[in-house]
Amino acid sequence: MALVYSTETGRICPDCRKPLSDCTCKAAAKARPIGDGNVKVSRESKGRGGKTVTLVRGLPLDADALAALGKQLRSACGSGGTVKDGVLEIQGDHCERVMAELTQLGHKPKRVGG
Ligand SMILES: [Zn+2]
Repeated sequence: MALVYSTETGRICPDCRKPLSDCTCKAAAKARPIGDGNVKVSRESKGRGGKTVTLVRGLPLDADALAALGKQLRSACGSGGTVKDGVLEIQGDHCERVMAELTQLGHKPKRVGG
């Protein structure tokens, strides 16, 4: 039975109580979506020396997928940008373009802010 070996290995993950060799916590944490699916697109220029950036928040994607989407959006906008703390940042005002791209990908982005 599955329970037998856990007492023999001695090394058990404190989170899932499985032997470390069977533990998937780390992989699960990495694959966990960062956002809640309420995708919000906004434009911001405050505190950035007057430079406008387009921000996308709430994407229900894990870190890798978010990075890939960021790359896709940046190339669609022909602009640079970053991913920071689960927020996609694209340099310049590209709200319309980003909204269109996200909608095409099956998201339901909302325009927020100015
Ligand atoms: Zn675990």
